Amino acid sequence: MSDRKLKLLFLSTSVGQLGSGLGGGVELTVLNIAKELYRRGHQIAVVAPAGSVLESIPVIEIDGDLQITAQTQDYAAPIIMPPNSVLGNMWEYARKVQAEWDIIVNFAYDWLPFYLTPFFNTPIAHFISMGSLSASLDRAAGQIADRFPGTIGVYTASQAATFAFASECQLLGSGIDLSLYQFCSKPDRKLAWLGRIAPEKGLEDAAAAAKIAGIPLKIMGKMQDENYWQKICAGCPDAPVEYLGFLTTTAMQEQVRECLALLMTPRWVEAFGNVAIEALACGVPVISYRRGGPAEIVRDGETGFLVEPDSVDELVGAIEKIDRIDRFACRRQAELEYSLAALGDRFERWFNSILKLS
Ligand code: UDP
Repeated sequence: MSDRKLKLLFLSTSVGQLGSGLGGGVELTVLNIAKELYRRGHQIAVVAPAGSVLESIPVIEIDGDLQITAQTQDYAAPIIMPPNSVLGNMWEYARKVQAEWDIIVNFAYDWLPFYLTPFFNTPIAHFISMGSLSASLDRAAGQIADRFPGTIGVYTASQAATFAFASECQLLGSGIDLSLYQFCSKPDRKLAWLGRIAPEKGLEDAAAAAKIAGIPLKIMGKMQDENYWQKICAGCPDAPVEYLGFLTTTAMQEQVRECLALLMTPRWVEAFGNVAIEALACGVPVISYRRGGPAEIVRDGETGFLVEPDSVDELVGAIEKIDRIDRFACRRQAELEYSLAALGDRFERWFNSILKLS
């Protein structure tokens, strides 16, 4: 592999500030890729909405109004941009400074960066963080896949399969800083659920399963849809659930590691599910619907259980046999497949291939 040090300009999601949780798992992905490639000596800067925070990585903060998330709009919805769009402003900044960088890396799930790609001189790599949700994005990304082969990256094959240009996608997976997640061999009698509180995450099924199993469920994540949460509470009044808030990685893993299992109940094709590998890193098995990214991550019967999508009964059945899972096997899987080193290798290879260096 080429050992040339690259100059990489990352353009973050435009639906929320880094650190806010509004961007979901892609916030952690941006941080982890930036951290690992910076450690390897590449030059990195991250362009993000004003107010963003990203540990030790320099952030170029851009003013403007946030984009609406694609998952809250219809598939056929036209493109909506607020008058002073932070997405537009971020790309205007990138246009001005493009000559200083080897590659611009787009992390926004939005139409504009795809549309703008042919107008730039510096190559643009697009990391798509969700499955197909928007006709406009599908069309624009498909055109880029044709015209600039190899420049579209995704998390998983199941995510890629939602797009017509699936075979053009580079599968890049995810990875985490394993040193931040502590292994726990002896859990308490409680379950975990992690993620944005939003309808596509199917939290009501996890609450119902916890109620039937009679085991407390600890819920952590960004409160994105308060109405949805209120409906869950009203629909399952005696469920033993507790919302702990949106926690930092350190505080979150302190809670998760003590749990019997993580429940994942996605209604949509989850592109990856960073929370799955975060739980595994703590030695916590994952019980998930056999759908999207988690179905590619969890080794059924070995590091958790994959059950029939939307079946609360099957979630309960899996909870009842969770002590058959060896928690060391969970941590081992995270170490083997989802380290920052493995993530850094995959992204370096991708950038080198775009620059035709390898
Ligand atoms: N998360 C967090 N604090 C919490 C709960 C969740 O920081 O209390 C983060 C978690 O680390 C993960 C993200 O929220 O990176 C959820 O991402 P995931 O890929 O699971 O789903 P997405 O939101 O992208 O659909």
